Amino acid sequence: MKLSKTLVAASVLAVSSLVAASAFAQAAWPSKPVSLVIPFAAGGPTDVVGRAIAASMTKSTGNPVIVENKVGAGGTVGTAYVKNAKPDGYTFLLHHIGMSTAPALYRKLSFNPLTDFEYVSQVVDVPMTIVARKDFPAKDMKELIAYVKANSNKVNLGNAGVGAASHLCGMMFQKALNADLTTVPFSGTGPAMNALLGGQIDLMCDQTTNTFGQIKGGAVKVYAVTTAKRIKALPATPTLAESGLKDFEVVVWHGVYAPKGTPKDVTDKFNTMIKNALKDPDVIKSFTDLGTEAVPASKLTPAGLESWLKSEIDKYGPVIRAAAQFAD
Ligand code: ASP
Repeated sequence: MKLSKTLVAASVLAVSSLVAASAFAQAAWPSKPVSLVIPFAAGGPTDVVGRAIAASMTKSTGNPVIVENKVGAGGTVGTAYVKNAKPDGYTFLLHHIGMSTAPALYRKLSFNPLTDFEYVSQVVDVPMTIVARKDFPAKDMKELIAYVKANSNKVNLGNAGVGAASHLCGMMFQKALNADLTTVPFSGTGPAMNALLGGQIDLMCDQTTNTFGQIKGGAVKVYAVTTAKRIKALPATPTLAESGLKDFEVVVWHGVYAPKGTPKDVTDKFNTMIKNALKDPDVIKSFTDLGTEAVPASKLTPAGLESWLKSEIDKYGPVIRAAAQFAD
């Protein structure tokens, strides 16, 4: 009798721990696929960064992280989508420098980058390149500047919409040359690259994560990199400053955000997943091959992203206002 009482008590205990464990498992995050929203088209540079880390996170956690491309209006459509998503830890946004330029470019923005999101982490820094269709007349930056100045009514420039990095860089390029070009917006520079390859557009300023393969394959011409120094991946390509265009430097940084109210323990876990992805040899290799720069550990934190975003908003507000006549 005594033995059977002990057995009953033990079984009750075992059953209740099982119930507790399964309740914990249900509450544990992630218990279903996590969506990583990219506000630009598939196949473009932001998408390349997003898919690389999503694949690594899926591999390391066994839980799918799925890239969703929500495109439009220079990245603002996808950003607003994430702002309005449930803050349940299953929707995140991967955006770039556009998060800091949109406030100066849009009179009415449907989100506030500083108050509508939880910050998760920065990801990677990517240089931009000024590229042209293969048969564009200018052979180097000096000739490009002269050609564009003399033919500004004929030359067109692709971008990923107002607020995109390609738009910012294109504005700065036009301002530096005092040349008002026709701009052709796409849902991302992935599709814009197809138009460049097809000769439907002349020029584009875009991240190496999209241009590098085409430059190496000789499918597009490259004139300059937008970084302060030449980059290892393209050692023969001059900087803009070397080409005479001073005060014109753009590095496309990337950040991950969650809808405001997403639990802190979840954004912390996602932060760890990003850090782990950035240590994955496959990710390191593909990012290095594409000419990107790893960001310091201090930026791979919510606070690092927040303070960087604020400083970039302060930096680009005046730059954009000064180039406003080239904003469309
Ligand atoms: N590179 C694009 C931009 O100009 C975005 C993209 O398609 O990823 O911002």
